[in-house]
Parts: sequence; C-alpha cells; structure tokens
Amino acid sequence: MSRIEAGAERRLTGIPVSPGIAIGPMFGALEPPAVVTRSKIQAADSGAEVSRLDAAIVQSRKQLIKLRNRLAVLPEDSQAEIAPLLDAYLQMIGPSRLVRATRKRIAEALVTAETAVVDETEALAATILAAAGDGGQASRRHAEEVREIGRRLVRNLTRTPFRSFAGLPPGAVLLCEGLRPADAALLDPSRLAGVATEEGGSDGHTAVMLRALGVPAVLAVDGLSQAAKPGDLVIVDGAAGTVVINPSAATLTAARRAVTAFAQERQRLGRMRRLVSVTQDGVAIELQANLEIPVELPLIAQSGASGIGLLRSEFMFMNRETLPDETAQYETYRTVIEAMGGDPVTIRVLDWGGEKEIEALQSEGIVPDIADTNPALGLRGIRLLLRKPELFETQLAAILRAAMAGPTRILLPMVTTVSELRAARDIYDRVVRRLRRRGERLPDKLPPLGIMIETPGAALSADALAEVADFFALGTNDLTMYTLAVDRGETEVSELYDPLHPAVLRLVQFTTQAAVRANIPVSVCGEIGGNPQFTALLIGLGLRTFSMNASSVPRVKQAVRALNADDCRALAEAVMAVSDPAVIRQMVMGGA
Ligand code: PEP
Ligand code: MG
Repeated sequence: MSRIEAGAERRLTGIPVSPGIAIGPMFGALEPPAVVTRSKIQAADSGAEVSRLDAAIVQSRKQLIKLRNRLAVLPEDSQAEIAPLLDAYLQMIGPSRLVRATRKRIAEALVTAETAVVDETEALAATILAAAGDGGQASRRHAEEVREIGRRLVRNLTRTPFRSFAGLPPGAVLLCEGLRPADAALLDPSRLAGVATEEGGSDGHTAVMLRALGVPAVLAVDGLSQAAKPGDLVIVDGAAGTVVINPSAATLTAARRAVTAFAQERQRLGRMRRLVSVTQDGVAIELQANLEIPVELPLIAQSGASGIGLLRSEFMFMNRETLPDETAQYETYRTVIEAMGGDPVTIRVLDWGGEKEIEALQSEGIVPDIADTNPALGLRGIRLLLRKPELFETQLAAILRAAMAGPTRILLPMVTTVSELRAARDIYDRVVRRLRRRGERLPDKLPPLGIMIETPGAALSADALAEVADFFALGTNDLTMYTLAVDRGETEVSELYDPLHPAVLRLVQFTTQAAVRANIPVSVCGEIGGNPQFTALLIGLGLRTFSMNASSVPRVKQAVRALNADDCRALAEAVMAVSDPAVIRQMVMGGA
C-alpha cells in the first residue's frame, strides 16, 4: 500500500531557515535546466567566442543592475542582505580575475565560451574551498557566489530562460527544487506567504536572504517536488522545519493558532527596542551590535543596540583588486561612527588569514598566493599586520582621523603574547606622532587599544595581557575552535564544536576575572553573545557587555530583563563545578 491517497495529509521535514508559519496554496516556479555540451573550437574562432562571452557579461550586468534597482521596494534589512551580494556578482563580472581567466581559457584551451565559464568557475570555487581554513562557512558561500555567477553567464550564453515569479498569486507558498540568492530580489514578501525548496542549506545566501525578507522558509526538503502539486494547500513552519501538504482540519486549526502566536511574539520583540537592558535586580547589561558591512547600519539602529562592539573591517578589503587607501578607509569609518550618533564604535583592524581570503592582498604581493598549509595557525590577524606595518599604519591612521566623529575603540585580532601588543602600541604611537606632524586633528582622548581574546594562549595569559591592553573582547568562535581543535566550519566534526565545553568556559571565566581585577572593560562578541539561552551563564560568569548580530539584540534583551543576576551567579557556580558538557548543556539550556 505505497500509493498515497489523494488529498491525504503529508508531512515532510527539512532545514528550518526563517521562522514563521505560512499557510497557502502551492505555487511551483519551474526553471528549465541550462544544458552545456562541452565542445572544442578552432583557434580561428576564439575571437568570436570571446565576443560571445563579452555579450553574455553585458547582458548579465544589465540583469543584475535591474535587480539592484528593484531592491528599493524591499524592506531595509532585506536590502542590507541582498545589495552586497548583487554588488559582489557585479564585481565578479567587472574587470575581474575570473573574467580575465575565462577569456584566457577560451583562447588557450580552445573551448566554447560556456565550457570555459563552467571550467573556470568550478576551478575557482575549488581553490576557494581548498584554501578554507578556520571557518569554512564564509568560503562555502564565496564558492557558491562564484558558481552562481557562472550559472547566470551560462544561462545567457545558451539563451535558457530564468525562473519567473510573474504568475505568483498573492498569499501563495512557493515550492521549488532550488532558489538562487538573486531570485530573492524578485520575491515580494508582502505577497508571498512562504517558501520551501528541495535544495539548499542553512548557511547559504538564500537562507540568509529569506530570513532578511522575513518569509517563513524551510530548505532541503527531501521529496518535496513529488509530494505536492500546484494548488494543494500547504503549511510551512519555518521554525520547526516542517512542510505539511493537504493538512487535516485539526492540523490547519493548530497552524492558524501558531500564526497568531508568532505575530504577537514579533510585536512584543519590536517593543523591546525602547526598553532598558537591566536585570530584575538592577544590573545593567550593555547590548551592542557586530557589524560586517555598513549596509547593516539601519538594522543596528532599529535593533536598539547601544553601540558597535565589533566592526569586522575585512569587508573594506574584500572583493577588490587593490587595497583601500587611508582616505577611502577614513570615509567609511567616519560614516559608521557618525551614524552611531555618539554611541561607541569598536573597530577591529584587519583580521586576514584562515577563511578570510582577500584577493587584493594577494595581487599586491602582501601575502603568499597559496594559503599556509594550516591557515588558522599561520600568518593571521595581528601577525600579518606586524609583518606588514604599512598596511597596519594606514588603517590606524584612517581610524584615528575618523575618531574625531565620535567615541571609537581599536581592537587587535589574534593576539597571543604581550610582545605583540607592545609592538602594536609602538606602531600606534608612531602613527599618532606622524598624524600630528601632518597637522591632522585627532581627539584629545585617543581611542583605547584593546585585544581579542580568541586563543587559549591569550585567555590563559589574560592577567598579563590585562596590564597592557585597554580592554578585552572575547572571541568565543575562535576560542572554541582553538581550544577544542575543532574547525568552526567543518561539518564532519561539528558535533564536537561546543562553546559549553568546560575548557572553553574556564577560559572565559579566567579572562573575565583577569579583566575585572585589572579594572579594564571586557565584552563577549562571539556567536554565544547573541544566543539568549547563554545569557544567564555569561552574566553569572561576570560579563556585562555583549556584542551580537543586530537581529539578536531584542531577544537577548528580553532574556536579560527576565533574569536575576544573583541567580545567574548561582547557575555559573553550579556549571563551573561540572565537567561533562552534556550535563552543562542540560543545566544551561534545560534540554533544548
Ligand atoms: C570570534 O572569533 O569569536 C570573533 C568574534 O571573530 P571572527 O568570528 O570574526 O573570527
Ligand atoms: Mg575570531
């Protein structure tokens, strides 16, 4: 009896990527596959093939610019997610290494333009993935961007039509095999109830964008395209990761109730922005935002964050062939500092290395073309900056000048010894003197110089480092990776990546206590800072400042307001007496 009864309820599961409940009729947007037949060409035809490639580039550019112009109708946070991606695509088909290499491949390997595009994008994606070090997630995304631009070029070269959402009826649930990130720019979240796809993963751009659009979504649902037909009633639960096709009356009633509860929860979180971040017994907890790209600024303003606790400056150096000069960097930092209207901004200087590949550093010969055998343990963060002081000095000069616009702090990545911090401070002092000689205006009180604590070495010498550093920022993402010897982006060992491991918690505690004794500020800016389930433990360990993804601020504030600092201390004491991570997880998350 394997035949499924027509109209019977079917429940499928996938990866929950964007919370919310969608109820609506199924709409399937089909996309014919682009077929590439690998073929060789005569040398005499290579000029014509290069011209075909150039025409496809022009067409792709037009399409992307059109998508970019359409963004204005999307909500601000969706624009913040999608715009940089479209810009990255546009840069890839500008005067880029990818385009040069594809042209060269046509002429040298004597293949058609589409064959050259497929081969070149695959080769580039493979290089990016092979160079991935400590955090494979960003590299996987970057490799997917390269493949995606390749697919667009191929579709234009082979004149295969793109997916169209033109016929999507209001309130429908979109079900399809895969959804490319740029498709998200074509979706109208006010007309679309939800999305479920057969392909995709939780950390891809598509997932990030669906979250930013606020569309309930479940990806990687096995058997989806077989299970539903157009017009079937579908429920997508983007938090539970379920897709129900042809729900029974009881399932439908429960789903309708869940829709109401979700809307009420959203409203409540929205109101959080105006409330103070204080525990029940009056302990103030500072909630700040991490910023990866300046387009996130409006999101930060909406979130109610009281400053930027970590500005990852890598974005300034990525997706470009030359390094940004002092003026370009100054303008960017000044814009961010001004936008924060007097709230502090902590700018972390360039953290190159590991997963963070920066083409301009390679093309200008500043770092080797081939990554270290183990980039996470190589020339990363402060190590590169001390080796290439010109790079460091330019960035420090830009930050120092921008600091005239508001309170600013400077943060050094991957510090492991006191001597690195001393060397960095000497360079900092030198830059200050040089700027003064140049007649630049600098703030009377210069920006404090702090360090990331993100290796066990730094954490265990936190007492010594606290004598030289002006502040600490705990980078628990790397701290967990380096302590447990588990790559933070490697799926094979992901179950071992556990910030609740007692070894990590002891390092967090030791660092926090060292900072408190030395009377210097300490914050946590790794992912655990934005997880409300960890808030009680972190407060209990003595932390009072958290920096996180802007969207997490309301939830963490809600957690803070429900807590009592004394209870948090008792929880931390009990947790620190336990050595089994599973028991700790139970105590902290209550079985979640
Ligand atoms: C960290 O390591 O926890 C951190 C905040 O830095 P990044 O994630 O940029 O390495
Ligand atoms: Mg780090």
